[in-house]
Amino acid sequence: MNYTKLLIIGSGPAGYTAAIYAGRANLSPTLLEGPQPGGQLTITTDVENFPGFPDGVDANELMDNMRRQAERFGTTILSNLATSVDLGVRPFRITLDDGSQWEADSIIIATGASAKYLGLSDEQTYMGKGVSACATCDGFFYRKKVVAVVGGGDTACEEASYLAGLAAKVYLIVRKPFLRASKIMQERVLGNEKIEVLFETNTLGLYGKDGVEGAHLVYRKGESDERQYDLPIDGFFLAIGHHPNSELFAPWLQTDAEGYLVSEGDSPRTSIPGVFVAGDVADPRYRQAVIAAGSGAKAAMEAEKFLSEK
Ligand code: NDP
Repeated sequence: MNYTKLLIIGSGPAGYTAAIYAGRANLSPTLLEGPQPGGQLTITTDVENFPGFPDGVDANELMDNMRRQAERFGTTILSNLATSVDLGVRPFRITLDDGSQWEADSIIIATGASAKYLGLSDEQTYMGKGVSACATCDGFFYRKKVVAVVGGGDTACEEASYLAGLAAKVYLIVRKPFLRASKIMQERVLGNEKIEVLFETNTLGLYGKDGVEGAHLVYRKGESDERQYDLPIDGFFLAIGHHPNSELFAPWLQTDAEGYLVSEGDSPRTSIPGVFVAGDVADPRYRQAVIAAGSGAKAAMEAEKFLSEK
């Protein structure tokens, strides 16, 4: 059995910032990096809105810096994933994917959120063969090709703009007659001659022999002027939002209708003393790196208070 005073689960801006604060408070935390070290930011390119970087910063570099800063103050980083937790005993019990068992007096949950899919069986069929949920990871493969991005939020607009820099043509498939994205992102998309927005359009399926060759689309589904057609494309990118990685904790902690962990008011405290939340797993609203980092700091300060009173 391994023991740590404070276990931080997750390695996005929330997890690393919690580790930096906890480390500087002499808590010698242990941090589980999980399946996506560095979190969601590592699948983007430049971060332009993180304060302190007037010219923007490469997302991987930013996360690597946070990681090194956490290590500098005594965080032990394990490249493992928690597979089960027991928050009904003290110390809390955690099992990792290598079968090892851990006890912790306090836990900060910073497991973030993951990309959503439409739920079409074709998405699985063509996964890695034309279907992607990360334009910045896979866009390179579609240079001078034709791609489609699904979604009308900031992520979709950002991904469409990024892909327009590589691909010959980008279709943005939007189910509503308008974009939900912020004004500046909308303007970037609507002003880009390589991007064509297909409003009021849904995807019924994908087709292709060895990989995606096109999408079956429907315009104004269920209306009198409904029209189904096929759109030839080489790549199909999902950008329709995220779901929180909270499944492991849902039996113990309160979640909202979408699965986001619910904390006490504005604080990182949960209904179980000693268990704290930070970052996107508990933030359906803002989902920004700087906010996740701030919430990680708050969680570490609360954990320090809890452990010193214990
Ligand atoms: P959002 O939830 O904001 O948008 C999701 C989009 O996907 C919506 O247009 C939604 O349509 C559409 N959608 C959802 N489900 C389906 C479906 N089944 N079929 C078709 N379309 C679907 O998610 P984002 O990831 O875009 O953004 C999340 C948060 O992160 C936001 O707060 C955003 O502002 C922020 N963000 C900020 C960035 C920045 O500042 N640089 C960059 C990226 C994100 P509908 O509108 O009809 O619901």
